[in-house]
Amino acid sequence: VQVGTSHEAEYDSFLPLPERELISRIRRLSRRRIAGIATGRLIAGIGDDCAVVRIPAGHEALVTTDFSLEGVHFRREWHSPQFIGHRCLTRGLSDIAAMGGKPLAAFLSLALPAKIPQRWVDGFLEGLLKLAKQFNVPLAGGDTTQSPGKVLADIVVLGSVPTGKAVLRSGSRAGDRIYVTGDLGGAAAEVDLLYSRRGGKRTSSRRPSFVPRPRINLGRILRQRGIATAMIDISDGLSTDLSHICEESGVGAEVWVNAVPRADFHKRPVDLRSALHGGDAYELLFTAAKRTRVPAGIEGVKISAIGEITRGEGMTLVQSGGKKSPFKPQGWQYFG
Ligand SMILES: [Mg+2]
Repeated sequence: VQVGTSHEAEYDSFLPLPERELISRIRRLSRRRIAGIATGRLIAGIGDDCAVVRIPAGHEALVTTDFSLEGVHFRREWHSPQFIGHRCLTRGLSDIAAMGGKPLAAFLSLALPAKIPQRWVDGFLEGLLKLAKQFNVPLAGGDTTQSPGKVLADIVVLGSVPTGKAVLRSGSRAGDRIYVTGDLGGAAAEVDLLYSRRGGKRTSSRRPSFVPRPRINLGRILRQRGIATAMIDISDGLSTDLSHICEESGVGAEVWVNAVPRADFHKRPVDLRSALHGGDAYELLFTAAKRTRVPAGIEGVKISAIGEITRGEGMTLVQSGGKKSPFKPQGWQYFG
């Protein structure tokens, strides 16, 4: 297929480009973004039936897939298309980080309503491809189709990890300490604010204060140094994601309330609910044996001890005075 320019004039139109032109455009944009990177790794990409990706010798493949659905994971009226594209890829990269892996290639399936401006689609791709470039991840394929209703984006990320070395959710043992990277609750507090303003004069957050960074390097370092016994990324909220580690490891957990690092929002720490249950943080939650020396930070990212893995089932919150209460998974969906 000749990469046509006939539709360039329709850049500002209120309709997305027809599928063939859209794919050509994605291919062109992604080539521009990743020119010179990933050579030798990507043997065939967009334009063939399958991508052909070389897995480094002595490594295993990691594969993750994540939906970003309009009305469930984002709202077009609240966030810029660049932010939505950025977060779409962040969700995939963050999963690779949580295994201690390295991303090799990304694949995007995009269903677009008939009446969406091509400008929006371009903004989405711009945000996604900018992040892809920062992490040296080529967009190696995907699919586009028309959606009967809203925007649906599905990101697949292929990564690799040395054979047998992936950090699983199932490795926690009683007595392990629980750690998180960065601060929690910022993105959730921001969404709460958007909700509270609904019906008010301004409801958009075109420039969100909390732009998530996938913790790829941190995840790899935690694996390489043999620090993490189990790991997960906080996409659904601390309570929900910690419960996944507990379930897979067959253990319980105690979380020290005052040790949970809260993000600052409008110059004040976010409320406890946002920090304990708020999603979209994309920080890493991991456990380490008690005797393991865990640094207070790695590559400028703070690491906080927030609790301890216990025998048996269930999670408990421990107040500073020692008072204990049940800690239930309560990650919530924001945009529905
Ligand atoms: Mg995950």
